[in-house]
Amino acid sequence: MIVDYHMHLRGERQEIAHEAGAVDLFVECARKAGVDEIGFTEHGYYFTQLRTLWLVPYQVERCAYDLDAYVDAVAGARERGLPVKLGLEVDYVPGREDETRALLAPYPWDYLLGSVHWIDGLGVDGEPRLVDEIGVEETWRRYFDMLGRAARSGLFDSLSHPDLVKIFGDRPERYDYTEIVDAIADAGVAVEVSTAGLRKPVGELYPHPEFLSACRERGVPVTTGSDAHVPSLVGRDFDRARELLGEAGYETVTVFERRQGRQEPLG
Ligand SMILES: [Zn+2]
Ligand SMILES: [Zn+2]
Repeated sequence: MIVDYHMHLRGERQEIAHEAGAVDLFVECARKAGVDEIGFTEHGYYFTQLRTLWLVPYQVERCAYDLDAYVDAVAGARERGLPVKLGLEVDYVPGREDETRALLAPYPWDYLLGSVHWIDGLGVDGEPRLVDEIGVEETWRRYFDMLGRAARSGLFDSLSHPDLVKIFGDRPERYDYTEIVDAIADAGVAVEVSTAGLRKPVGELYPHPEFLSACRERGVPVTTGSDAHVPSLVGRDFDRARELLGEAGYETVTVFERRQGRQEPLG
């Protein structure tokens, strides 16, 4: 089975399109790309219902959309029998776990992705960049510390682009993934294999082969995602993702339904 569990419900120019017609476009593109099932994971910070969680100007500026419209568009397609799942990409906000859980509780999610894009108001993948303020080694330490806390929060089903911190190509000479993989394995959360990194300055899949092999050794399940912000990117470079998964020893991928995961053979 081939599943793309990370995409943003947009039109052809990346404009917000939280409506049934846009879902249909993604489904069509998925079919053409040979993807069996897709899951939508719009950024949580777009939605006014979650407004109290967002602290960073980048998030607050975008917080202007109705979560019910998004949920209706995706859940409606699911009810029409289309191969779509309802998800959300949620920035982990440390110390606000209970509030995050309560705000998300009313909706019929299939799964939630946990992301770390910001640390203390500075960007991991955006401006102003954290790495410019505190340097590479400290950025990596802080990023994986935060990702470990996100894993342990119990809020998420899978961790998106788990080594996003490498996005610009800055990295320590060696990095020992033992501690973060232990945290992920102990928490029972999945990790995402994402092809988005291939389209970023680093030019690699997320996560690093050593990170993924350590996950495999610890029995951590995986999801797969393109992080498409336009329909035409659904399933992009999934042959590369399968190759990386195969090299790490993975034979199955996680399929979620109402926050219950099951393993299906990798297609
Ligand atoms: Zn992201
Ligand atoms: Zn995303």
